[in-house]
Amino acid sequence: MKLTILGCYAATPRTFTNPTSQVLEIKNRLFLIDCGEGTQVQLRKNKIKFSKINHVFISHLHGDHFFGLIGLISTFTLLGRTTDLYIYGPVGIKEIIMLQLKLTDSWINYKLHFKELSGKSSEVIYEDEKVSVSTIPLKHRIYTNGFLFREQLDKRKLNVEAIKKFEIEQCYFQNIKNGKDIVLDNGQVVKNAQLTFDPALPKSYAFCSDTAFSEAVIPLVNNVDVLYHEATFLQSEEALAKKTKHSTAIEAATIALKANVKQLILGHYSTRYESISLFKEEAQTVFSKVSLADDGKTFEFETD
Ligand SMILES: [Zn+2]
Ligand SMILES: [Zn+2]
Repeated sequence: MKLTILGCYAATPRTFTNPTSQVLEIKNRLFLIDCGEGTQVQLRKNKIKFSKINHVFISHLHGDHFFGLIGLISTFTLLGRTTDLYIYGPVGIKEIIMLQLKLTDSWINYKLHFKELSGKSSEVIYEDEKVSVSTIPLKHRIYTNGFLFREQLDKRKLNVEAIKKFEIEQCYFQNIKNGKDIVLDNGQVVKNAQLTFDPALPKSYAFCSDTAFSEAVIPLVNNVDVLYHEATFLQSEEALAKKTKHSTAIEAATIALKANVKQLILGHYSTRYESISLFKEEAQTVFSKVSLADDGKTFEFETD
């Protein structure tokens, strides 16, 4: 699992910082999460192939999270895209995009699919044999969801020594990987546990931006490997965080601690701060495994 931060600052784009957008790669699939202004340039800078993006998840309809989307959709056409594109986001996103396409007399040569969200409790919105994605309802000024990406449990791993020992033919391998026992020609039953090893534990990544401190998030991100949680403000701006329905670094760390996550990544920093290092310092007074997101930074989460 590899996470590339394209942008992780709040509000306005600046010379060296970009609003929210990130790419999560899981088992050869790319998921674009939020699409602030500048996403296309950041994709280019980070050498991420546009054609590999088939699923875009938009947390909410504040501009710093989706103003780059219409540009990306248009560019796909210019690049000759023919593959379907799936967009997941709050109710209204379809109307916004279709209106921009209509009034600019634009056309697209691929199919756009919208899955508009309005649920107030977590729901699975994408699933294939490798990955599932569900929503994490957040508490913000407008309707907002985070997203939980979970690898599906792999098939069991063959124990090659045991397979040889029992002289099992290849045509049975699929069944064995699926957990089935085997009956040998002499009638002896060989239990699956003798023939296989447990698969690697599935990894999980939770994206939570933007949100006020919300304990409702805790059970939804419980035990995840990596939690990205917004930390727009430092403790000195706690009152402003409450008023604008954002979180402080300490609040993000409190969620990480209570949810027993393995690693916390902070982002969505207010552009009022000269340096982001204080975010880590403040968060670490509550939770030790903290990393700071920054534009262009990548995180690789190893498989066990
Ligand atoms: Zn924001
Ligand atoms: Zn917002």
